[in-house]
Amino acid sequence: MSEAILRLDAIRKSYNPGKPNEVKVLDGAAISVAAGEMVALVAPSGAGKSTLLHISGLLDTPDSGKVVLAGREMGGLSDRKRTEARRREVGFVYQFHHLLPEFSALENVVLPQLANGVPRAEAMARGRELLDKVGVAPRADHRPAELSGGEQQRVAFCRALANKPRLLLADEPTGNLDPGTSGLVFEALTLLVRGTGLAALIATHNLELAAKMDRVVRLEAGKVVAG
Ligand code: ADP
Repeated sequence: MSEAILRLDAIRKSYNPGKPNEVKVLDGAAISVAAGEMVALVAPSGAGKSTLLHISGLLDTPDSGKVVLAGREMGGLSDRKRTEARRREVGFVYQFHHLLPEFSALENVVLPQLANGVPRAEAMARGRELLDKVGVAPRADHRPAELSGGEQQRVAFCRALANKPRLLLADEPTGNLDPGTSGLVFEALTLLVRGTGLAALIATHNLELAAKMDRVVRLEAGKVVAG
């Protein structure tokens, strides 16, 4: 069994705890995602998928339970250390691409690398290589508004992987696309993930895509259960 890149242990999370409008979202959720593994997270809207992804990616903290990322427990870290760990280890993709509208596709993949101290020439080379892998290299100089939905999302994958994270978290990455485009975009994602040793946790409503991953899990009553 490969090394676990993400491990969640007994995670509990409520919104508005102790108040009349308290929402208990996660209630002892546990999951482990190994290096090189693609796991589909399937659950109805409101079940807590985004909450689980945010906690996994250190964007939110659990009320209790452990988050272990690349072998390190994240619980005791300062905000600065958590931010550092997130920048270094985690890539995010959302349902909507969130690309910077005033920059080209290539610049969108280059900028996060520059922010992490990668020299410009190296960042540009990696950006082009990633865009080429997913077939968007001919659109490298286009701004997001000049790209199709599928192209925008493929650029968003490249951006998420630009800094070679160990964990990719995706929240409905094909939710906004028609079925044909979803399939192509998913293939691009698979291509980027396979062979890199990246662990990927991907929330999706698309059961056909979920079935193509290594494993399917569901969120049920705040717990992760095998799909
Ligand atoms: P999913 O991604 O599966 O749709 P979410 O994790 O977004 O589910 O939300 C789980 C539940 O928590 C929902 O009932 C949602 O309304 C509630 N929720 C999410 N974020 C907040 C928040 N900031 N404050 C209060 N309730 C929230």
